[in-house]
Amino acid sequence: MGLFWRRRKDGQTNAPSVDSGSVPAMERVVDRAATKGRFFNAIGRARNAFTLSLQNIFLGDAKLNAENLENLEELLISADIGVANSTKILEAVRGRLSRNEINNLESLKEGIRQEIFSLISTATKTGISSEEEVSPASAPYVIMVCGVNGVGKTTTIGKLAQRISAEGQKVMVCAADTFRAAASKQLGIWAERSNVELITQGEGTDPAAVLFDSLTAAKARGIDVLIVDTAGRLHNKAPLMAELEKMKRIAGREVPGAPHETLLVIDAVTGQNGLEQARQFMKTVKVTGIVLTKLDGTAKGGIAVAIAAELGVPIRYVGVGEHLEDLLIFDPATYVDGLLS
Ligand code: GDP
Repeated sequence: MGLFWRRRKDGQTNAPSVDSGSVPAMERVVDRAATKGRFFNAIGRARNAFTLSLQNIFLGDAKLNAENLENLEELLISADIGVANSTKILEAVRGRLSRNEINNLESLKEGIRQEIFSLISTATKTGISSEEEVSPASAPYVIMVCGVNGVGKTTTIGKLAQRISAEGQKVMVCAADTFRAAASKQLGIWAERSNVELITQGEGTDPAAVLFDSLTAAKARGIDVLIVDTAGRLHNKAPLMAELEKMKRIAGREVPGAPHETLLVIDAVTGQNGLEQARQFMKTVKVTGIVLTKLDGTAKGGIAVAIAAELGVPIRYVGVGEHLEDLLIFDPATYVDGLLS
């Protein structure tokens, strides 16, 4: 089955591009190229800022002297790659490239590209949980979605529901952010757009009760995937974390192995602050994947490097716009090419 969002025993996800046996090969190639093109467009602002700054550093003196090196480090840091990662990348590049190569802008760029790629892909691999494959018998597959208000959680759930139902799966959305009245309403609009079922209750209802209802309905109606929205307020963090814990317990009690995936949504525009939010969440919630939204809205696309390297959790998807189809599977190679080509 082409279930791209389902984790497998070997730590890979079943991406439709490699697993959609019924799609003719040529169509798959075209599809992959189109996805790459959309990703390149989305990361255009970050790429332009990066390339321009790189050229400026070497405008006066084409050699990688102490001053240029410092400027280069600043450039990486200002792209939100993070201080420790930037130092690590440059040290590795200097250790690997010859004297001639290091003074050549293109070779230097290629060196940085390779180092960033290795940082992201290593982190992505080690971050994947080695949990057992989810048995198809334990339907529905439950995806919990967490994140601070405003990061794009509701939008992401709408896009995800659309993606998964477009694969022929029966999707249901559970509106368990009962704290914000507007959240359920907004989710309803997205569910309607993507033509999936929504389970919702009144404002202030216990989120765990909405989840219980949704799990019961999902089992009764033969739903394949249940996507669960959760509250995103941070101002009273301890109750929120307790609430998420309770929801996890109920999910696990009703469906073996659930939640099978816990996605944390991070807004790329907030850069290092987003990373800090993630650290806070991860103290109590076992996050299995990251969705990085609004990559199209920042000139500092380096935050993906910091996330992958520091959180040790794979980035599963990136948000590249406000429309239903603007959610792409994250691919480290495409990302690095997009940032540095
Ligand atoms: P929530 O409070 O976390 O549920 O956030 P919403 O889903 O309501 O999104 C907040 C704002 O971010 C809305 O205006 C969305 O249209 C916008 N948004 C969400 N994802 C993306 C994205 O990938 N790119 C862009 N440009 N905007 C996004």
